[in-house]
Amino acid sequence: MTIIDGKKISEDILNEISLEVEQRTNKGYKTPHLAAILVGDDGPSQTYVNSKINACKEVGFKSSLFKYDNNITEKKLLEEIGKINNDDDIDGFIVQLPLPNSINQENILNCVNPNKDVDGFHPINYGKMTLGIDSFVPATPHGILELIKRYKIDLNGKKCLVIGRSQIVGRPISILLSQSKEFCNATVTLAHSRTLNLNELTLDADVIISAIGRPEFLTENMVKEGSIIIDVGISRVKDDNSNKGYKIVGDVDFKNVSKKTSFITPVPGGVGPMTIAMLLRNTLLACRKND
Ligand code: NAD
Repeated sequence: MTIIDGKKISEDILNEISLEVEQRTNKGYKTPHLAAILVGDDGPSQTYVNSKINACKEVGFKSSLFKYDNNITEKKLLEEIGKINNDDDIDGFIVQLPLPNSINQENILNCVNPNKDVDGFHPINYGKMTLGIDSFVPATPHGILELIKRYKIDLNGKKCLVIGRSQIVGRPISILLSQSKEFCNATVTLAHSRTLNLNELTLDADVIISAIGRPEFLTENMVKEGSIIIDVGISRVKDDNSNKGYKIVGDVDFKNVSKKTSFITPVPGGVGPMTIAMLLRNTLLACRKND
């Protein structure tokens, strides 16, 4: 059994990005610049945005954080996005989700300039990804693909079950893995909360990608010998032995499931660290297009 080390791979990617930034600077090219929009004071959102900003510093990117009150109107936020769309120094930006209920998320994401949409959520980029045309691929599914490639796991013809159909993880990874591209070509099934007889599907799958957010949902009796397991879930569970009072666990009962697998990602240290690395890679890509 191989534990897929997302922390190591993400560090490799960040090092590759740093090197390219250094080379660009030496040649007089522009420093990549990522901006983040944060609305309100949601704790986890602030943590995620801070990690993205810190990662920018680590690789030598410029970064900007635009913070707005919870009560900003949709109209005002659209105006602010318009300004960022037109700011030539900003190569890419993200709108940290979720947004307050008073704001229509779709209207906001549709207003992001597709050339700066490094999260890959604009319909133009999402459509291109679906058609297999080069585009900004959403960071988490992109990170999963990168882990698969770097561990040389060929999914050609394998039965791959994706659990969870969110727009940001489950659906895009199901599309990507079914495409006729290197390491992909899987036969994909997309399961969700309305799926019947999930156990039958999990037991039949060569590969399971779980993105549902239910702590240790996938148990030993649900997977077959030799399967490949990618755990995207991140849940906080109470832990009296930790100073924080909680620990982070994935969707998979790692301790028992890992014994039956050929490859498995841990949580933390699997898919999680890849997400930021791929966001920065998309930003570098956006910057290169402006050269
Ligand atoms: P979500 O929370 O929007 O939706 C959950 C999905 O799971 C839904 O499609 C639902 O149909 C499905 N689901 C729920 N219970 C199910 C069940 N019992 N059986 C089958 N399907 C079920 O999804 P999300 O935003 O993709 O997040 C999923 C998990 O992944 C969360 O824990 C989230 O924190 C984590 N996540 C991690 C990263 C990362 O960087 N590693 C990135 C994004 C999300």
